[in-house]
Amino acid sequence: MHNALDMLNVCIAPTRLCNLRCDHCYITPELLGDKTQMAEDVYRETFVRIEELFKADRKVSKINIELLGGELTMMPLAFWERNLPWTLERMAAWDALYDAEAALIWCTNLIFKDDGYVGLLNRMGEQYGYGLDLFVPWEPDTNRFKKDFKLLPRYLKTLEAISGIKRKTLCITMSRAVIEQGPQFIVDTFIPKGITDVTCDMLYPAGSGKAYFQKNCTYGQVSDYIIELRGLLPDGVELSPLVEMESSCRTLTHYHYPGNDTYDIEVEPSGEVTFNSSYTGDESSFGTQTLSVRDQAFAAKTIFNNTPELRLRHSMPYAACGECEYAVVCSGGWAWHKQLPRHMADLISHGDCAGLKRVWDFAKSRTGISAGDRSRYLSMIERRQLRGAVEARRLDTAINRGSESVLIESAFVCDYDDYFAQFNRARMVLMTDGLLHGKTWTERLFFYDAIGAHVRVDARWMERAAIEGGEELFRHIVYRNYHYLNFPVIPVANLIANQDWRLSKLLSSTVAHLRHGSAKGAGSGRHDELVEFAYKLLSAESNAEVNLAD
Ligand code: SF4
Repeated sequence: MHNALDMLNVCIAPTRLCNLRCDHCYITPELLGDKTQMAEDVYRETFVRIEELFKADRKVSKINIELLGGELTMMPLAFWERNLPWTLERMAAWDALYDAEAALIWCTNLIFKDDGYVGLLNRMGEQYGYGLDLFVPWEPDTNRFKKDFKLLPRYLKTLEAISGIKRKTLCITMSRAVIEQGPQFIVDTFIPKGITDVTCDMLYPAGSGKAYFQKNCTYGQVSDYIIELRGLLPDGVELSPLVEMESSCRTLTHYHYPGNDTYDIEVEPSGEVTFNSSYTGDESSFGTQTLSVRDQAFAAKTIFNNTPELRLRHSMPYAACGECEYAVVCSGGWAWHKQLPRHMADLISHGDCAGLKRVWDFAKSRTGISAGDRSRYLSMIERRQLRGAVEARRLDTAINRGSESVLIESAFVCDYDDYFAQFNRARMVLMTDGLLHGKTWTERLFFYDAIGAHVRVDARWMERAAIEGGEELFRHIVYRNYHYLNFPVIPVANLIANQDWRLSKLLSSTVAHLRHGSAKGAGSGRHDELVEFAYKLLSAESNAEVNLAD
C-alpha cells in the first residue's frame, strides 16, 4: 500500500525542566527536573541542520517545527527575546525559498513565571501572523491544574491576554474524563478566551503516561466527540482533524494529524537527536551511533537512522486498512499505537479504527466529493521515477567510462563515518547481505531513495531482496514508496508470482482482470499503483513477445 508521507517534523526541547510535572506526562519523569538549558549556538545550529536535512531528503516538502519542553518559559525570557524573532525570520525565509509550508508551533502550559512572555508572544504574533501557532493543552485528569482546577483561572487569564497571536490551538488529550465532561465544556470555557483551533490528541504509553493509558477512551468515543464538537463550535473555529481530513480526502496527498510523518525527530537540550519525539530518556528511538546537531554529516546520518521509524509510519497493522480508501494518507492511523501490545490495544479499539474512519466519512460527506482524485500525486511520482531512471543511466555511463566507481557496501561495514562520507555525490551502490550499520535492506533502500543514490539490480538481487525484505520490500516497490529507485517490471513480477504472499494474489488477480478489459481486481481501497504496475507488466510482456517474433 502506498503512503503519501512528505513532512519533516522536528521537536526542539531547549529545556526539559517543567513547573507542573503532570502525572501522565510522556516525558521520562527525571528529565522534568533537569535544569540543563540548550546553549544558544546549539539552538541556532539546529536550524542550520534542519535546513540541510530538508534539502538533502528529496521526498519531504513540508516543515513543521514544534518548540516544547518541559515548559519553554522555564528558559530565561532574554533567550527567547533574541531567538524567537530569529527563528520566525528563518522560517519565513524557508517558506519563501523552498515553498516549504513551514510552521512554528510554540507549546506551553500557560503557567508563566515571567509575565514578560505575554508581551513577547503578542509582539511576535502581531509581526509574523500565521507563522506562529500557540499550542496549549487541555487535560482535566492529569493533575495539571491541581486540586479543584486551582490553576485553571490563571491559565485562562494568560490565554486571553495573548491576543496578538492569530492562531491559538487547544489540544485536547482524549481520556475518559474528557468524554464524560462532553464537548460543550470546550465551547463554553476556551472559545471565549480566543482559541481559534481545536485538535484532539491520543494517549500513548510513554514515560509516566504508561499508567495513565488505562484511563484512555475508545476510538469510537473520540470519533463521536469530534463529530459532536464540530456541531457546537462557532463556524470560524477550526477543528484540526476534520479540516485536515476534508482537504486530504480531495487529493489524497498529505495528512499530518495522526503522526505518520516522514520524520518525527527530537532535539534534546544537549543537541542530541533521537527519532521519535514521543519517547524520551531510555525509551528514545536512538540512531546506530549517538547523533548530534554538531555532526557535519547530520543530514545523511539522520536520513539513514530515521529509516526504521519511516518504515513503521508506512506500516498498517490492521486488516481493514487494505480495503480502506483513506489508507494512502491515513497510513493506519495513530503512529504511536501501531505497536501497542494486545492488552493495551484492546482498551481503545472499539467503535472505530485507529484512523477514526467514521470522522473521515463525515469529512468526505462535508466536501460533497465521491472519490479522491490522486492524479496530481501519481504524476509527481511518475516524474520522480523518470528522473531516477535518467540518474541511474548517467551513473552507469560514468562507471563504464571509468570516471565514477560503484560504492560497495561491504567495504564500509566497519566504518560508520566513512560510509556517510561517500554520499557527497550521487552514487551507484552494490548492496551487501544482511544489516549494514543496523539497517535492513528495506530501510537502506529508503535511505538511497531519499538522497539520490541508486542500487545495482540484477536477477540475483531480486532473490536476495526477497530473502532480506520479503513481501514488505516488494510491496514498497510495487506501490512506489521508493519514488526514484527503478526496478525492472518483469523480474519483479516473476519474483512476486513465485511467492505465497497476499501481494502475489492481488497482482495476479489484477493482471487477470486487466487481460479481460476490467481495471478491477485489486479489491476495494486505493490500489492505483498496483493497477499501473500490472499495466506496465502487460505492456512489457507484449513488447517482449513482439521482439521474440521479430
Ligand atoms: S481510516 Fe482506519 S481502516 Fe482506514 S487506513 Fe486509517 S486506520 Fe486503516
